[in-house]
Amino acid sequence: MTSPLSILKKTYGYDSFRGEQAAIIDHIVAGNHAFVLMPTGGGKSLCYQIPSLCRAGVGIIVSPLIALMQDQVEALKQLGIRAAAINSSMEPAHVSSVKRAIRAGEIDMVYVAPERLLMPDFLELLEQSTIALFAIDEAHCVSQWGHDFRPHYTQLADLAARFPNIPRIALTATADAPTRKDIVERLGLTSGRTFVAGFDRPNIHYTITLKDSPKQQILRFIKTHADESGIVYCLSRQNVEDMAAWLKKEGCKALPYHAGLDAATRAKNQEIFLKEESVVMVATIAFGMGINKPDVRFVAHMSIPKNIEAYYQETGRAGRDGLPAEALMLYGMADVAMQRSFIENSTAPEQQKRIEHHKLNALLGLCEAACCRRQVLLEYFNDHAAPCNNCDTCLNPRETFDATLETQKALSTVYRTGQRFGVGYVTDVLMGKDNPRIPQFGHDNLPVYGIGKDTSKNDWQSIFRQLVAGNLLEVDTAEHGGIRLSPRGLQFLKQKESIRLSRPEQRTRTASKTRELKAAVEQLGGEGDSHLLAALKAVRTALAKAQNLPPYVIFHDKTLREMAIRKPGTRDQLLSISGVGEQKIERYGQAFLTAIAEHENQAA
Ligand code: ADP
Ligand code: ZN
Repeated sequence: MTSPLSILKKTYGYDSFRGEQAAIIDHIVAGNHAFVLMPTGGGKSLCYQIPSLCRAGVGIIVSPLIALMQDQVEALKQLGIRAAAINSSMEPAHVSSVKRAIRAGEIDMVYVAPERLLMPDFLELLEQSTIALFAIDEAHCVSQWGHDFRPHYTQLADLAARFPNIPRIALTATADAPTRKDIVERLGLTSGRTFVAGFDRPNIHYTITLKDSPKQQILRFIKTHADESGIVYCLSRQNVEDMAAWLKKEGCKALPYHAGLDAATRAKNQEIFLKEESVVMVATIAFGMGINKPDVRFVAHMSIPKNIEAYYQETGRAGRDGLPAEALMLYGMADVAMQRSFIENSTAPEQQKRIEHHKLNALLGLCEAACCRRQVLLEYFNDHAAPCNNCDTCLNPRETFDATLETQKALSTVYRTGQRFGVGYVTDVLMGKDNPRIPQFGHDNLPVYGIGKDTSKNDWQSIFRQLVAGNLLEVDTAEHGGIRLSPRGLQFLKQKESIRLSRPEQRTRTASKTRELKAAVEQLGGEGDSHLLAALKAVRTALAKAQNLPPYVIFHDKTLREMAIRKPGTRDQLLSISGVGEQKIERYGQAFLTAIAEHENQAA
């Protein structure tokens, strides 16, 4: 049997395992079960791919997204691995030939969707074949506590009973504590080991800012990423259409993606995003799961996501290659009301709705945080970090102040005006404005009328947002966004508690940290010779186009950069570059060596 390390070197072209990879791989190769929680880009795939190659038989990889299986299979084939997918989009003859290969033990890995795996004929086939392992990717889909529950996944629980002696490895990048427990129980992994890598994605720079002119804010952000690819998440299909059309008019290579588009358009847009450079995908959350594009440089949220797990996963699609990447989220009160109404109008049971509301509150806490974003984010997953110096609050700290008096004034005014008006009206009462509706309701006679004159409107808005985020006030979505006191708010007034809030956001933005990081990389010579890099990219594009593959399947940016720095002149020198394995050198070595040699001759 070939050792995991020699496979890593020869097949993948990497020198050493990262973090827990080696421990996980040894554990699975020895025939045990495991649950693996590792951030995006952490290297989860190798944790099941290498054991599939080490153990006898075929590795069965359960993955939720048919559309992306083909890319993964293609990438494996490029490494000389015998891989295939089985899914509903394939011709029956093709499916039969893959099945034959499984039975004959002529294949290393097969990707399947859970619904296919659980079909009686497929299970029967598996029972007649030698199975190396079952890998359940995106395992959070198993759990109702997770943020992307898929009913088909729950039936995967049957695997434990049917194939008790075959190792099962479940992997995900996002799961809070209750979700983890649920996955382990449902998939029968209690006898296995849990491997939790840290959640931190140090190369992602986080910014969360108030929404004022969302389109312009996003456009400015995209412009700081000229010539790079990224994703802009919107709340609705309509928002996606509007924004994509508008960005296009503004000169961006923007494409829409949402579940309302027909399958052909979706597939086409996704393909352009994967295969071309500097494309902005404007999308609902229907886009992104399983997208393995390593060089997504930015992710923007035009509105708040559903909760912290969703935010972590969506932003996690940036910077899988470990190079600097940027996440921007815009948020406003209207978004909060919208998310609340999504929860309320869902058909979920009451208990589930309460959980969703709590999760949304935690997200609002992140938005209003005065301390490091990364710390708040990691704390949510019970992980810890020092202030990161790579987020907006670290680089541009927000002051806090004793807001006890302001909070008392705000809560009393909400209470006295009957707990049914929106923030705008309540603020007018607080500030003693001559809004004609105020005398109509007799609110100019209330003792609270005008008690908040000394605080600006902008400051009141910030205070109200923080009180909603801190769950002292609730937004009544059924009643057009009226606000009322929560039990927590009532308690605050009764117990005469004190509170500190962060100072309203200053709108001056610091220069993008990503730019600074990039400049640093460049200074270190990290970009290598830019002419050579461009030439290498051109070779890559030509090779990719000829096979109709995304460029990163040939080599990642990181690998090309290392070539541009080290300028290998021989096959062995090229082999020593990270990401260059034996198959890749056979296929492409000469093309890249020639490009480097030509460049060197011209330079000489
Ligand atoms: P995940 O599935 O956890 O998001 P991947 O398995 O796609 O991450 O790995 C992310 C990137 O890191 C890929 O480009 C992969 O080839 C690379 N990678 C994984 N393990 C190693 C390693 N030990 N050394 C170098 N690169 C690695
Ligand atoms: Zn920070």
